[in-house]
Amino acid sequence: MRKGDDQSLLSLVIPLYREASHFAESIKEIIAILDGISMRYELVLIDDGSPDNTWEVIQQQRAQFPQIKAARLSRNFGKEAALAAGLEHVSGDAVVVMDGDLQHPPQLIPQMVEQWREGAEVVEAVKRSRATESASARLSSRMFYVMFSRLTGFDLHGASDYKLMDRRVVDAWRGMGERNLFFRGMNAWLGFRRVQIQYDVDERAGGESGWSKLQLIRLAMTAFASFSSAPLYLLIGAGFAFAILAVILGAQTLFHKLTGNAVDGFTTVILLLLILGCVSMLGMGLIGIYVARIYEEVKQRPRYVIAEWKA
Ligand code: UDP
Ligand code: MG
Repeated sequence: MRKGDDQSLLSLVIPLYREASHFAESIKEIIAILDGISMRYELVLIDDGSPDNTWEVIQQQRAQFPQIKAARLSRNFGKEAALAAGLEHVSGDAVVVMDGDLQHPPQLIPQMVEQWREGAEVVEAVKRSRATESASARLSSRMFYVMFSRLTGFDLHGASDYKLMDRRVVDAWRGMGERNLFFRGMNAWLGFRRVQIQYDVDERAGGESGWSKLQLIRLAMTAFASFSSAPLYLLIGAGFAFAILAVILGAQTLFHKLTGNAVDGFTTVILLLLILGCVSMLGMGLIGIYVARIYEEVKQRPRYVIAEWKA
């Protein structure tokens, strides 16, 4: 079978959280585009425990479009887990992962498929502009990406979760057993032949972003902790630096003691106390973050729980 001929299957994975208000519209637009590609296709929709009637909307769409398969997670597990649920249930030769709010323009899919047919194993849609985001959101994501690439060597600048993956990449991804999921980073780690195409992020089709600031911070910490142990080594570095300082100050203190004027060491004591207290607390906190991650991994809990599955 030739890659991307009429017989091969394209899977689309869409995680959905509180998208009921506009999803019926989005899916029409997406399906119209998929119909234009000469491939069979399936849509795998994951309702990430939405409190609104997203699941009912999905059911209505399923009645209309038999290509839709859908899973309802038992509660809100977060986008990364919903994506994992989708990726573990696709059977396509190529798999596209996208958001359900049309911020990932479906018009790009034919182009992605084209690149895949020409031999790309991962086609990444890269954000050209972040026009719809606030200045503070832009600044914090910039800071995150700079730190991430410094610490881990993976440059995720402009990366989004909008990607096409070859079957082989999805299989390799499934072999990654971690519970702390960071899809973008995991995907970059996998490697394979990668091609990038640029796009502009659109406004949301409706509703509002399901991410809170706290969730974003947590995702950033997961990203660092699961992709880099550098902070732990930094800690050792700091330890060495202070050890050298301690030797110098120790020598000086002893010298004063021996020459008989040891009274004025008080400043040094206070400084040392402050510095060491601060560093050791920071260090313990850092180690705590990693220990927490290890704890989560060894528990071996499932990444998500499916309450209902309609294929
Ligand atoms: N999403 C999800 N679970 C969540 C939050 C979001 O499945 O807990 C989905 C959401 O429905 C959308 C995608 O993830 O399809 C991106 O979410 P959103 O648009 O809220 O994020 P943003 O575009 O602001 O990064
Ligand atoms: Mg969005």
